[in-house]
Amino acid sequence: MERIVIVGAGLAGARTAQALRERGYAGALTLVGAEPHLPYDRPPLSKALLMGDRDDSPLELDWDSLDVELVLGRHAAGVAEGPVVEVEGCPPLGADAVVLATGSVPVRLPGTADLRGVHVLRTVEDARSLRAALAPGAGIAVVGAGWIGAEVATAAARAGCRVTVAEAAPTPLAGALPAVVGARTEPWYGQAGVDLRLGTPVEGVEEGALHLSGGDRVAFDAAVVGVGVRPATDWLAGAPVARDGRGAVLVDAGLHTSLPGVLAVGDCCAFPSARYGVRMHVEHWDNALRAPDVVAANALGGAEVYDPVPYVWSEQFGRMVQYAGHDVAGLRPVWRGDPDGPAWAVCWLDPDERVRAVLAVDRPRDLVQARRLATRGTPVDPALLADPGVAVRATARTRGP
Ligand code: FAD
Repeated sequence: MERIVIVGAGLAGARTAQALRERGYAGALTLVGAEPHLPYDRPPLSKALLMGDRDDSPLELDWDSLDVELVLGRHAAGVAEGPVVEVEGCPPLGADAVVLATGSVPVRLPGTADLRGVHVLRTVEDARSLRAALAPGAGIAVVGAGWIGAEVATAAARAGCRVTVAEAAPTPLAGALPAVVGARTEPWYGQAGVDLRLGTPVEGVEEGALHLSGGDRVAFDAAVVGVGVRPATDWLAGAPVARDGRGAVLVDAGLHTSLPGVLAVGDCCAFPSARYGVRMHVEHWDNALRAPDVVAANALGGAEVYDPVPYVWSEQFGRMVQYAGHDVAGLRPVWRGDPDGPAWAVCWLDPDERVRAVLAVDRPRDLVQARRLATRGTPVDPALLADPGVAVRATARTRGP
């Protein structure tokens, strides 16, 4: 192979370049990115950067030794049979393989794109602009009590702002976690002085104010819309690359798209999971970190399969929240520790008493050990598992229940 082109210079794109070199690929490697920066990490944007503890979050990669041609500050505009990538302002880039890694963009509320004081949080520029608004006493309105909303509320409260969070669902994190667990995070808002309005959809936004269902008006100096993301794949309109209704690139278990020679990785794609029997669309850091190893192997002609137990973490109101797994509907929860206390966890077991998912609040070892058991499908002893004094790994049964 003589040339591989990666489109999207975020974590997944950068890790793909690194993985290709680690696997011995010595041909030309081009990384095309719309942002003008070297690839950087996004999780610190809603944490250390927003709190003013740091100003950037570059990925620690040695670009010189990776020998990557970086085409930054340019949008790819299409991909065609060949495969060939069209990049604005550049001649078409033919390649032996192309990897799509264009990530996600935040969903905006209708009519808010040009409203002064209304922010989204995806890029380092977004984070710096929002941080400038987090002055002591400022009124900050957050739309959505999901992962991003909770972290923005944390930073804004710590900065001494007056914070209101409006959430349409009856519990925080409703899109990500079962209500019984999301409800346990509700008191954290009040304890931090944040006014959390649950079951309260935003009906309209004007400059300086949110209008909530029920008639309340929340005045703000800055508002942050944290209602989710969608795949950044509009640029593929017209390209012969199959996408789903949300725009995620459809890939097979080896992360190949419908266009020969073109693969996809990270937030922008949806892969079939034999483990869960569904097509998965994972929009978390760990996926962008690990899937590139599989995409690199397969871009080089391998036949590896990507089928993880997905993992996400979030830092909320001084707590580390970690979740690994997928849908827990119908599974049996086993609680470890007092969920009103400072540190606790829940594991969800299937009828064969295998761990299928785990949520941990300030119990990182529970997360790591339970995720390992979930990945291997090891049955556990539920009575032992319910004892937070027993290590999760020590609850594994060597034989079936
Ligand atoms: P992205 O990071 O979105 O990178 C894609 C890149 O492609 C972007 O630079 C984009 O500009 C570029 N691009 C898009 N279109 C084009 C085009 N047409 N041509 C060229 N380039 C293009 N996950 C967690 O698990 N835990 C966390 O605590 C956490 N915190 C987060 C905090 C914030 C503020 C954000 C925004 C995300 C957070 N995430 C977290 C999610 C995680 O960062 C993402 O899942 C991860 O960044 C996805 O990586 P990616 O490379 O697939 O996509």
